[in-house]
Amino acid sequence: MVGKIYLVATPIGNLEDITLRAIRILKEADIIVAEDTRQTLKLLNHLEISKPMISYHRHSNEDKKMEIIEQVEKGKQIALVSDAGTPVISDPGEEIVQTAIERGIQVIPIPGPCALISALIASGIDAKEFTFLGFLPLNKKLRKEKLNDIESAKNTVVLYEAPHKLKATLTDLSEITEDRKIVLAKEITKIHEQYITGTAKELMEKMEEPKGEFVIVIEKNNKEKIDIFENMTLEEHYEYYRRMGKDKKEIIKQIAKDRNVKKDEIYKQFIKD
Ligand code: SAM
Repeated sequence: MVGKIYLVATPIGNLEDITLRAIRILKEADIIVAEDTRQTLKLLNHLEISKPMISYHRHSNEDKKMEIIEQVEKGKQIALVSDAGTPVISDPGEEIVQTAIERGIQVIPIPGPCALISALIASGIDAKEFTFLGFLPLNKKLRKEKLNDIESAKNTVVLYEAPHKLKATLTDLSEITEDRKIVLAKEITKIHEQYITGTAKELMEKMEEPKGEFVIVIEKNNKEKIDIFENMTLEEHYEYYRRMGKDKKEIIKQIAKDRNVKKDEIYKQFIKD
């Protein structure tokens, strides 16, 4: 009989945040696949569970994945965990899930803590519709694309961020989010848990040396900016920004962004006219 793969959510800080079912599955599993076995060992020791473990992290290769799949096909029950929270969500495991499904192996989620959901529900920001973007890419072009998405987002946006990159991310957000409300959910479920609210600019001032773990929750863009520009001629659009005191270069850049076209196209239009 083929085994099953259980995706087991584990605490994101407070060790009490583990479900009865998660404990049972960890106890019953033949093998625990862990992102970092040393980290998972702390949890297992706390729960007084002793199990064989296999490590599977973001740098694990195809062979490692197949080694795990083969164990399931031999009949082993696998519990897959990440260092904290829900596996697969900005954590390893997705490739194992995909291959398992392709090979007809049953994959069963064991729901529990997830930093993005905890941050969202405690933020006070509209949680009816939201977009989760994970970590912002470091690659300039990809980052710009994501920032553009955030700028025009018509629903709440949730991001993960490492503490040493938080200031850079807030700086980027300050250029696109204007007065939109942002909540930094810090150290959720831990001793120094805190929810810090402000605009990106205000938060940059408050967060001198960010320490701990953070989720960023950003209010949607409530402004119907695009519609205003749609009904304007290019000249009116130019004049709109000129009155704000922007110089020609800035205006062209802004118009291109508003109209979702390349800067060159706007330049050409002005030369033609
Ligand atoms: N899979 C995990 C989950 O379900 O939340 C997320 C893993 S991701 C690699 C780690 C990121 O999640 C951190 O950089 C931070 O943005 C967020 N995070 C995890 N635990 C947190 C906590 N206790 N408080 C605030 N943010 C947390």
